[in-house]
Amino acid sequence: MDSRAGFVFLAAFSIAIASKDYGPGDWGKVAPPCSGQLQSPINIVSSLAEVNTTHNDLVVNFDNMNGAVTGYLINNGHAPKVFVDNNQGGATVTGGPLGQNMFVLQQFHFHFGCNSSAGSEHTLDGKTFASEMHLVFYNSVYKSFQVASSKPDGLAVIGVFLQVDGGFSKWMEYIAVSLRNVKTANEINYNLGDSIALSKLVPELASKNAPYYAYKGSLTTPPCYESVQWIVMKNPISVTESQLEMMRLLTTPNGTPMCNNFRPVRPLNRRKLIQRSPKQAKLPGRLRLQGIRLYH
Ligand SMILES: [Zn+2]
Repeated sequence: MDSRAGFVFLAAFSIAIASKDYGPGDWGKVAPPCSGQLQSPINIVSSLAEVNTTHNDLVVNFDNMNGAVTGYLINNGHAPKVFVDNNQGGATVTGGPLGQNMFVLQQFHFHFGCNSSAGSEHTLDGKTFASEMHLVFYNSVYKSFQVASSKPDGLAVIGVFLQVDGGFSKWMEYIAVSLRNVKTANEINYNLGDSIALSKLVPELASKNAPYYAYKGSLTTPPCYESVQWIVMKNPISVTESQLEMMRLLTTPNGTPMCNNFRPVRPLNRRKLIQRSPKQAKLPGRLRLQGIRLYH
């Protein structure tokens, strides 16, 4: 949603979200898909996740070394986002639940809590995390994110949990420190001077063997299009309390704190939740292709 219309739409909803008498439960009144059966986020019940043995490996490809991307930062009133400048090199994802289609990274953004006891959109066996990063990709069969965003096979979002666990990422620090340039919600783009090494920030993006959960869902803000193949990484990355505090300085269009910018979980309904774990990595396929040869 990087168009002006998208900004105004989200900004209006951010004001609505901040209002006590107009919450996510009311979104369906103005954006009917928000009341659909395939909504996100969900609570991931790991014991219900079916093991998929037919998918190929999920593969994230980067144009630059270490997944270095650059672009601009924006506070759209709902979340801090980094829009990737694909002319300087970006990322694509294919395989896994996405099949043969190639999805192009458009932006990534963060959901976070007013304190570290909450913040993620998805929950894992009922557990919430302090923050959740969403890497938003669009299907390259469509000419743009805007065109793809409403199509059933239009988007893929990789969700990554962030937790305070003593680890420190200098890439997360760079993003957090840069947020001071977009503290208030407006349309001003802040150009990142340095690139962000995505495959250092989220090392599992560079691994074909990382465990994840996948299901078909939606955008988690209005218009809530049910156009997203979700891929939620099982393992969190590290964030520090001071980095989260920098996120918590961001404000919405009416000046209130942006924190707690997560949508409550929605029911899974009849959807299939699948999982991929390293032990299941394509053994049947390799056996078929390689005869009796096994490799680790
Ligand atoms: Zn999001």
